[in-house]
Amino acid sequence: MNAFLNLFRCLVLLASFALLVTGAATADERTAGRDAELSSDGVPQRLILALDGIPFDVFVDAQRHGRFSGFRPVARMVSTFPSLTDVSFAAIGGGQLPTGYQQMHFDPVQNKTVGNTVGSLADRVHTNIYADSRDYSSMHRMIGYMAAYHYALHDLQDIGEEVLASHKQTFVAYLEQSDPLVHVEGRPGAERFLRYLDGFLTDLQAQVRARTGRELMIDLVSDHGSTLMKGRIVPVAKLLEVCGFHRNNRMNHSKDVAYSLAGIIGSIAITTPKGQVEEVAHCLAGADGVDLVAVDRGDAVGVLTADGEAEVRLASTAPEQYDYRALRGDPLGLLADAGIRERRFDQAELFRQTSAAPRPNPLRRLWRAFHGEVKEPSPIIVSLIDGREAGNAELRTMARIRGRVGTHGSMTSRSSLGIYASNWRDVGDVDSWSAHDGLFGADTVTAMHDVLDRRAALTLQTKSAAASQAGR
Ligand SMILES: [Zn+2]
Repeated sequence: MNAFLNLFRCLVLLASFALLVTGAATADERTAGRDAELSSDGVPQRLILALDGIPFDVFVDAQRHGRFSGFRPVARMVSTFPSLTDVSFAAIGGGQLPTGYQQMHFDPVQNKTVGNTVGSLADRVHTNIYADSRDYSSMHRMIGYMAAYHYALHDLQDIGEEVLASHKQTFVAYLEQSDPLVHVEGRPGAERFLRYLDGFLTDLQAQVRARTGRELMIDLVSDHGSTLMKGRIVPVAKLLEVCGFHRNNRMNHSKDVAYSLAGIIGSIAITTPKGQVEEVAHCLAGADGVDLVAVDRGDAVGVLTADGEAEVRLASTAPEQYDYRALRGDPLGLLADAGIRERRFDQAELFRQTSAAPRPNPLRRLWRAFHGEVKEPSPIIVSLIDGREAGNAELRTMARIRGRVGTHGSMTSRSSLGIYASNWRDVGDVDSWSAHDGLFGADTVTAMHDVLDRRAALTLQTKSAAASQAGR
């Protein structure tokens, strides 16, 4: 009974910490109204399926083993930094910006950590990607953690029914339960899910074909990857204590530092009084398990590692270019020539060069983490190496019960790389922002209408051929 009570307490805590709860911000009306167009034959022509947390590597392997054979080769979807659901799906969906990097975050106006109310358990979860599929409550999410695979399949079935019942031309669906599944079961869970998903999509395709005589265009996208490895904790509060700082949920004293740990994640967004931001950042930059610390310096983003320091500046927006200046060492490893300390990078070119690098798409992600990704950025974001994580004790108790085989949030390749795949057009690597254009932009809408026009012409041809046959 005691164990049960403990478990229940953990569940409530889990919910109260709103583990992986996406932000309260809903997509804007403009985005919501984008696919008011109805399908000519009463069944969606195109499905955009947003899968939370499906890692790139696992999908590549699935295709290598013959799954998703109707799809073109999967491309990388490079997440935001931090590589977390709210910020990444907000960019992919193109809706409102979330307030913080996670629903639970420090609010400087209220001078406290917000977004962790137990009372919001029964609330519908508002995803940051506008979806036609149903929203689930936080309770559903929480219980889903206990039986992740079962819930992922169940919710996928719901999506299938909703797609077939919809008259929309493009149906956008969001599956959240794939994320807890990967957290709890790691690679085997992700592989098992993708085997099921492949069968599910083949079956859905067959049903659409039976009803309409044509194919369903399908685009798959996920918001980030996973380290897919058990993590050791980085004792952030202890590290800060050693440097003379004190973790508090309010900024009352000069040495106070605030951060929320909603879930067990690979990044930490830290708030502290302006005068000590640099000191806190330097304190954590050399710590064991820390990959890098990003600091908001107004016109620059400071990048600190154990053995280096650099600054990133936005040089121009059209074309998008960044200046990278090394102050000590070369923390991002972008300067091939040791004699050069500063270099300007063209974003499009750097993206192509780094989408498969250990820290993919570094400059845009670092810049946007503090400029335009959320309404209230924190002055410091810590990124951990793979195999390390930050989380609170109660959640770790819970995690011990359920097991825990991976996380995300950091800048590393494993955390950052989600999927972008299509069964009707070739796709290349994208990041969360260009994924929005790739899924919803004018070129894609035109390409989709071309397919629809060809289908309509083919139907007409078939009909007139049948008519002339009958007239003979
Ligand atoms: Zn996610």
